[in-house]
Amino acid sequence: MKRQLKRLGYSYDWDREIATCDPSYYRWEQWLFLRMLEHDLVYRRKSIVNYCESCQTVLANEQVVDGSCWRCGESVVQKEQEGWFFRITKYAPELLEWCDKLTGWPEKVITMQRNWIGYSEGARILFEVEGRDIVIGVFTTRPDTLHGATFLSLAPEHPLCLKLSRGTRQEAKVREFINKVLTQDWASRVGEDAEKEGVFTGAYCINPLTGRRLPIFVANFVLYEYGTGRLWRFLHMISAISCLPGNMASTSWS
Ligand SMILES: [Zn+2]
Repeated sequence: MKRQLKRLGYSYDWDREIATCDPSYYRWEQWLFLRMLEHDLVYRRKSIVNYCESCQTVLANEQVVDGSCWRCGESVVQKEQEGWFFRITKYAPELLEWCDKLTGWPEKVITMQRNWIGYSEGARILFEVEGRDIVIGVFTTRPDTLHGATFLSLAPEHPLCLKLSRGTRQEAKVREFINKVLTQDWASRVGEDAEKEGVFTGAYCINPLTGRRLPIFVANFVLYEYGTGRLWRFLHMISAISCLPGNMASTSWS
């Protein structure tokens, strides 16, 4: 790629190049990573990722076009994979506080930054599933509205969707709906004019406040990794550009 860029005659100052694939660069990246590991700022966990079987690589949401890989056109599958995560949520309140202290930035940029930090205060409410030994934890920023809750929705990626519908009359419908949503590209799922859709799983849970039965739905507008999904996308953006020369990488950041 560097050879190609040189042939194109761009006026880069190659003396100032930083190449992330160069050992003299990534040894410090690795050094820094180990310090973060020591301080419990990185951890491993499983997450659902977009995966292209033919390229054998994870794709960022932006690299999935109409359910297919941007590079080769193969259908993208959702795969559970173990990966490293930065515990940046630890700094969320501090980052948010500083958003208010920044002056001279357009409000649009500050809002984007706030959304990216994705910090929200709320409560985790536990719902028992009727007739089953299963409890569903739901995060909400509005626990005060619990009294009026009429249904509970799960993200299509949630393993409970299939488990709850198994053996009920809803099983086939749930399976079909999950496949449809998971092969949809991200933008059309979370975009502003995306249609909100859901399917009944066949199971009920109990409202802990009123004792009333609530039907459990699987719905496309519920995001499995609410709060951390953004972090995940951020990490894969890095992996997608880490082989480029430094100045190309910085172009992608701006
Ligand atoms: Zn591919």
